Amino acid sequence: MAAFLPISLLIFSACGFFVFVCGQLTDFTLPVKPTVVSGVDVATESLFSAGTSNASEVPTTEFTTSYRKSTAETTTERPTGKEGQKPVRKVLKMEKEDDEGPLKLAKRSTRSLTVAKKLKNVLKKPKVIPKKPKVTKTPKPEIKKVKHHQSAATKTASQCPPLGLESLRVKDAQLRASSYKRRGLGPHRGRLNIQSGIDDGDIYDGAWCARYKDKNQWLEVDAQKLTRFTGAILQGRNSIWSWDMVQTYKVQFSNDTLLWKPCMNGSKEAIFEGNQDTETPVLSLFDRPAVARYIRINPQTWYQNGTEGDICLRAEVLGCTLPDPSNVYAWQTEPTESRDKLDFKHHNYKEMRKLMKSVHDECPNITRIYSIGKSYKDLKLYVMEISDNPGKHELGEPEFRYVAGMHGNEVLGRELLLNLMQYMCQEYKRGNQRIVHLVKETRIHLLPSMNPDGYEMAFKKGSELAGWALGRYSYEGIDMNHNFADLNSVMWTAIELETDQSKLINHYFPIPEQYTSEEAFVAPETRAVISWMQNIPFALGANLHGGELVVTYPYDMTRDWAPREHTPTPDESFFRWLAAAYASTNQVMSNPDRRPCHNKDFLRYNNIINGADWHNVPGSMNDFSYLHTNCFEVTVELSCDKFPHASELPIEWENNRESLLVYMEQIHRGIKGVIRDKDTGVGIADAIIKVEDIDHHIRSVADGDFWRLLNPGEYRLTVSAEGYFPSSRTCYVMYDHFPTICDFNLTKTPRRKAKDILAKGGKLPKDLQLLLRQQRMRKLRVTTKAINQRRAAAKRAKRV
Ligand SMILES: [Zn+2]
Repeated sequence: MAAFLPISLLIFSACGFFVFVCGQLTDFTLPVKPTVVSGVDVATESLFSAGTSNASEVPTTEFTTSYRKSTAETTTERPTGKEGQKPVRKVLKMEKEDDEGPLKLAKRSTRSLTVAKKLKNVLKKPKVIPKKPKVTKTPKPEIKKVKHHQSAATKTASQCPPLGLESLRVKDAQLRASSYKRRGLGPHRGRLNIQSGIDDGDIYDGAWCARYKDKNQWLEVDAQKLTRFTGAILQGRNSIWSWDMVQTYKVQFSNDTLLWKPCMNGSKEAIFEGNQDTETPVLSLFDRPAVARYIRINPQTWYQNGTEGDICLRAEVLGCTLPDPSNVYAWQTEPTESRDKLDFKHHNYKEMRKLMKSVHDECPNITRIYSIGKSYKDLKLYVMEISDNPGKHELGEPEFRYVAGMHGNEVLGRELLLNLMQYMCQEYKRGNQRIVHLVKETRIHLLPSMNPDGYEMAFKKGSELAGWALGRYSYEGIDMNHNFADLNSVMWTAIELETDQSKLINHYFPIPEQYTSEEAFVAPETRAVISWMQNIPFALGANLHGGELVVTYPYDMTRDWAPREHTPTPDESFFRWLAAAYASTNQVMSNPDRRPCHNKDFLRYNNIINGADWHNVPGSMNDFSYLHTNCFEVTVELSCDKFPHASELPIEWENNRESLLVYMEQIHRGIKGVIRDKDTGVGIADAIIKVEDIDHHIRSVADGDFWRLLNPGEYRLTVSAEGYFPSSRTCYVMYDHFPTICDFNLTKTPRRKAKDILAKGGKLPKDLQLLLRQQRMRKLRVTTKAINQRRAAAKRAKRV
């Protein structure tokens, strides 16, 4: 193995047919027919020209200069074969420079010698770190140290996109390695951000790890086509128990896997900086891009951890596919783009607002933008309403919601909702009957960003460098999907303690008192969403996440705090239907040949799973929604990659368009109706709708209308309301795309009639459950207001 590389280099230099361009960009246009190059899209062309300027050794572009991470392997600075001890001395100095931020970067990076010394420093550092450092799992991964990557990330836009090790666009068969420790640490696990299970040693470990510990180990990516490689991103091993990472590495290129050429920095072989911790992704841009089909990442030094340290890494490779001169049917192999003309890019807060406004301007008659509150950092939580009568609840028209970006770094949902609003506006105007029907029959609410503060953090790092957790939490560090009132415990405790079964309630649980106080650790975003959930009579919703490919349905919380346990709601069968409606129409999930994302094979479950059966999540939005309101909600995990590269967005829209529409249409499945007073014909609010054999009631809303989502079948419904005789009837749900209408006319009890006469239209006291629920909600709103006012005052004081 050790002799292989130098020999191959010799052969290479003697071979004319070998197409290679690391460091020699003038060469690289040669093998590709010029006629083909002219057919390249604009982006690729500009990359070519950027390369040309490099080749002529004119002062390199700002980009290349500033983010050069490689360094020449000179005999003076870095004695080969020895892990030179000398340079370690400079640690402190370099750390300091890092802290000074990006300003210094251009200056520093031109001095490759200093950088070389920095690399050595890195070696020493992890010795201070304990073997099982929890630090790496925290949401804020060492922002200071990687500061200089921030602008790199934004500038990567002009660079080549990731090949897709993280997104799985690169298949397992395209990854090879010199050796690997065992199957769970095979080359197919060497993907950026891949997550291991809780234990090491199964088939789902969190990196590729070489079997041997020498400098001849490599991870190889076959791009399958001639590709212009511009950089690599490295990350250490994901594991609770092991602490492995590669600290420096070389890169080689090949067209046939026989002859390899090293990536150069000037006339020397480049050495790139790897990782200082196991989680922070580190980007290295090649000084001069290379054109080849294969690329190898070849670790040189790694965290030793005594003698325990393994060569482990997770990686992404940046590269642009070049047109294949021998393929005249290039269009057949092009990745599918979207046929819809939508704004496919990542929208930060301002851009999102602008886009929403443009949709409203284009379709003012069917859209309305409103805000449900503010984030901790005062960003508004905007909602796009789409309806034929925006701003109003219409009798019998069900209300739907999509919520995205509760975890700010899971960004695909946000973009899909922005795509969806544009799409619906365009298609409505075009007269697409499916969309027209949906808009006329449904009031749709889209909240693209529930955690805008977290999003902005992740957005600044960019799609490849944000890591796995940055931006997940609110600014205050709150995980919003654990932040809703835990009504499951309230319910289960009552079931255990209450001897009189008739006193148990099964829906509309009031928020626990302690949750409503000012001191309660409830994020402003969570408060805003709870208030929204009560203001609008939603019947169905979905909560869009990322990082897996699966649809989960309530309950999310296990009953006895088990780490995982199937915990069904009384509406299990309908929830499974709902989850399947999304999963089976999603083009990636439904592909039987797809590989699992991380450490669980959801294909075995048809891509749907009870949330608690995956992992226990107390205080989830789905559980709260089901137990506190009429709204059924599932969680959709949209993609293995939490922050897909912008170039993936059109395909992701294609993958999800049908599912997003089909799922919304499920709101018209089951029974709907209006409950009225038999004498006056006036709608009765808060009437209870019971379905025989389903221990979960729902309530009618303000005008007496209700929606009871149900699978096809025969159901015995009983409706009761304070002061009325209950009424029952059997209703049938068919396999149709419209609900069965099941209206009820209730007769007042004589006592109620007498009371009515006495009260003369005055409001009657409501039932206790409802009263308590409303009181607690009012309390929550009061404390929210108080908190907001206090914060606003503090802010004003600060300004003065
Ligand atoms: Zn999430």
